[in-house]
Amino acid sequence: MTIESPEIKTVAIIGLGLLGGSVGLAIKERAGTIVTTGYDRDAEVRDRATERGLVGTVCETAAQAVDGADLVILCVPVGAMEAAAGELAPQLKPGAIISDVGSSKESVAQALARALPGHTIIPAHPVAGTEQSGPEAGFASLFVNRWCILTPPEGVEKEAVKALSDFWASLGARVEIMDASHHDLVLAVTSHIPHLIAYTIVGTASDLEEVTRSEVIKYSAGGFRDFTRIAASDPVMWRDVFLNNKGAVLEVLGRFTEDLTALQRAIRSGDGDTLHDLFTRTRAIRREVIDQGQDDERPDFGRKDHS
Ligand code: NAP
Repeated sequence: MTIESPEIKTVAIIGLGLLGGSVGLAIKERAGTIVTTGYDRDAEVRDRATERGLVGTVCETAAQAVDGADLVILCVPVGAMEAAAGELAPQLKPGAIISDVGSSKESVAQALARALPGHTIIPAHPVAGTEQSGPEAGFASLFVNRWCILTPPEGVEKEAVKALSDFWASLGARVEIMDASHHDLVLAVTSHIPHLIAYTIVGTASDLEEVTRSEVIKYSAGGFRDFTRIAASDPVMWRDVFLNNKGAVLEVLGRFTEDLTALQRAIRSGDGDTLHDLFTRTRAIRREVIDQGQDDERPDFGRKDHS
């Protein structure tokens, strides 16, 4: 049976940074018949969004932006979702789909349900991003061939889920439906803990007294450089991710700490087999990431393009 989905003709984007800007540009490039409006609480961001043409109309208030919109996408830090959603309530069109792009899902789903009771809410997370932020950082191809995970709560209309899936597919994304708590566990492993490790190692390296800060920067090609890219990610966004995905992050961190301790023991006792076995396994995982199109084979000396 095919599901008739409501047509999404107008999209309002709240928060015009990296993600909001990219959604706007992707719609312009790949789904040009959709009318877009946008709002950001920062007046300078609104000006830059207008100059870059991130959306068709940049509005002065959130309520103006969502007036008549078929789909509203909140693109603000996860800790700001509830307040941002609360501003929209009076102006929402009946039947409008409310979604977001936040990096954690369970707490965001609860926050949106609290702010907008009775509305059609379908949380989403495009697993696509960069270490940059702000209205200059967005680009139209950000979602191409990347996963977008939807976490529809029980009871939400199938037609609305289909409409949102089709919308993300039209921006080039591959769509997956998942339970919010499972999403949070998976992303803790694949994204949140790797960011925490990068923040930690860059902090540790810059604190080491025997190694000067200038040496850390000068010799950064030895793996450290890749960590600095991740550790340059937006502090507000990542503070909110850890505070809002506490359970899954602490669970995976416990497991990671145990594994790190086992490696520490292997190094101390000269157990080369353990090290070699692990490094062989991890090299194979890198191969799978490339085979599944989530990165390419080129050595990364600081790629300059977004391809
Ligand atoms: P960003 O570039 O910093 O943009 C967020 C924008 O939202 C900022 O301009 C911010 O303004 C604005 N904002 C904050 N509260 C607001 C409110 N109540 N009403 C209107 N605007 C508000 O951040 P981003 O990287 O696009 O991240 C946005 C969301 O995408 C986050 O939930 C993040 O978890 C998710 N995400 C990010 C990535 C990534 O790689 N960056 C990937 C996938 C998903 P102020 O600067 O004044 O706060």
